[in-house]
Amino acid sequence: MTELKSPPVESQPSVEDPGPVIDTSKMSSGQRAALELTEAAREAAQEPSFVSGLFMGSFDLSRIRQFPAQSAEDRDQGDAFLQKLDQLLRKKTDPDEIDRTGEIPPAVIEALARLGAFGIKISPEYGGLGLSQTNYCRAAMLLGGWCGNLTALLSAHQSIGVPQPLILFGTEAQKRKYLPRVARGEISAFALTESGAGSDPATMQTHAEPTPDGEAFILNGEKLWCTNGTKAGVIVVMAKTPSKLMGGKSKEQITAFIVETDWPGVEVIHRCRFMGLRSLYNGVMKFTNVRVPRENILLAEGKGLRVALTTLNTGRLTLPAACVGLTRRCLEITRRWAADRVQWGAAIGKHAAIADKIARMAASTFAMESMTLLAASAVDRDKHADVRLEAAVCKMWGTEQAWEIVNDAVQVRGGRGYETAASLKARGEEPIPLERFLRDSRINTIFEGSSEIMRLFIAREALDPHLKVSGAVLNSKLPVGKRLRAAIKAALFYTRWYPKQWLPRERFTLHTSRFSPHFRYAARASRRLARSLFHAMLRQGPKLERQQLLLGRFVDIGAELFAITATCLRAESLLRSGNGAADGPQLTKLVDYFCQASRLRIEEKFRALHRNADRTSYRLAQEVLKTEH
Ligand SMILES: Cc1cc2nc3c(=O)[nH]c(=O)nc-3n(C[C@H](O)[C@H](O)[C@H](O)COP(=O)(O)OP(=O)(O)OC[C@H]3O[C@@H](n4cnc5c(N)ncnc54)[C@H](O)[C@@H]3O)c2cc1C
Repeated sequence: MTELKSPPVESQPSVEDPGPVIDTSKMSSGQRAALELTEAAREAAQEPSFVSGLFMGSFDLSRIRQFPAQSAEDRDQGDAFLQKLDQLLRKKTDPDEIDRTGEIPPAVIEALARLGAFGIKISPEYGGLGLSQTNYCRAAMLLGGWCGNLTALLSAHQSIGVPQPLILFGTEAQKRKYLPRVARGEISAFALTESGAGSDPATMQTHAEPTPDGEAFILNGEKLWCTNGTKAGVIVVMAKTPSKLMGGKSKEQITAFIVETDWPGVEVIHRCRFMGLRSLYNGVMKFTNVRVPRENILLAEGKGLRVALTTLNTGRLTLPAACVGLTRRCLEITRRWAADRVQWGAAIGKHAAIADKIARMAASTFAMESMTLLAASAVDRDKHADVRLEAAVCKMWGTEQAWEIVNDAVQVRGGRGYETAASLKARGEEPIPLERFLRDSRINTIFEGSSEIMRLFIAREALDPHLKVSGAVLNSKLPVGKRLRAAIKAALFYTRWYPKQWLPRERFTLHTSRFSPHFRYAARASRRLARSLFHAMLRQGPKLERQQLLLGRFVDIGAELFAITATCLRAESLLRSGNGAADGPQLTKLVDYFCQASRLRIEEKFRALHRNADRTSYRLAQEVLKTEH
């Protein structure tokens, strides 16, 4: 059994007023505006999370404690709903038909609404089911393995649509007005993206001007790719509101409004269609002089980006949960096929190239599930828990792994993997929908924060403790005196912190844990990660912010370390509780394999910190952009 003793908490840097932590003086005005707006919307870290500690060399398991087993009561509540949802999906829905026709039958939407599937996390006080984040993720897992279109409908509605920001930031009056409606099945959506504003919301054009009496705002603009927009009754719309003078400077403001789609001036001008998710009710929404009452502002004027980013922090957990469902299904398909299909005198699963894919699928699926459940349980313990980094890692790592797994599953099925379910059926074979899964899942690494943006986001958070200590030293916009004082503080901090990153010290006590070597490796690798990040800061100075590939490698190492930790903790918890006892040896092998493979990926990333072709590739790309090639 593993006993996790609380280590002395790593002293985190504390500087009362670090001033602006990022030097924006050498940036273009567009870059500066984007950065300043996002920085202003960042939530201040409450207390360091486990993943943030990994980048500072603090492998602090006390921040997780033990892998949180779901309480029997919570599990029973979830099971009761999941059973009904499972029945409904199997008996009343045909995902291939939904894909083929590009429409979800209204009867299916009504049945889901009657079941409460539009208000899973909404408290019963407001007409919802009041289930936990863990049970919500379990529902996403079930949906994810069944139908991408239904997953997107329910997820866009409650992970990013009106329920989530309303639960987090709504006033009591807003909650009483809107939560019962959306819990009953009035579909909601989230409108941030515009044609010119994708990953960078600072460039948004949609704007809202206050009326002369200040009672309302007049909203004008156009939003792109609003999922559920064509069916929604109510939408959260992000818009620019008049800039405010702050510290003598004019600061751009983004505000979040709850907008009802039957108000005059709201139109759907186009329904967008995609490679996959063919029944997505996704549209271009136009707002022409829409009068939005002031009481429909979420949180406060100018806090829209904070609403959007915080909503996405927990909202992002739905996607990796759905990916778990999808990859479990791929594993099930692959396992059967690789055992039955005989080529070259043996079942294809006996050929090493295919066997390797199957092992990776099984291990990564278990890891993905462990990470997602771990992050979800943190939200259940504390609704305002800071799971920014955990959720972002789950989203980035989970969606990338899922894409590889679906791709591998198609490869293992060979030509049949590429054939549509309808065609397979027509010629008498089992209609296995891998082709649909591949199309539907391609978007996962793009929306709700693309992989590239997730890496930048995680890197920003990982660097935060260092920026707080030394950002002011490097900031050429600050007066010399302030920079000198900051330099003294930074020197004091690093003379204590840095030597610790070389000392082999166990920050936890493990008794007879089968997985101790993996925990020890992760603890050592976390210190190496912290050292390497620090060395990179010394080498690169403020330029490090722009070294995306280098930062991406640090992020990938941190993500793998979180994956190892979550996997081992969950396996240990399963073995301890007896749930995994029957499968003990298999579970142990699966975990050992995952950790071994993850170590290899980590070591490769460490190597690539020093041996890479980053500069050459960047130069070449710039030449290609100038069409010199
Ligand atoms: C099916 C679908 C559903 C969607 N649903 C919604 C919704 O409900 N609500 C909503 O508001 N939006 C929605 N979106 C929008 C989605 O979130 C955006 O597509 C996403 O944010 C990326 O924006 P973009 O497509 O404009 O890409 P861009 O921002 O133009 O980026 C293009 C590429 O460049 C990369 N990139 C951009 N900036 C950087 C950088 N600084 N460094 C490195 N790489 C960078 C990106 O990662 C991407 O690979 C949806 C999109 C689709 C396709």
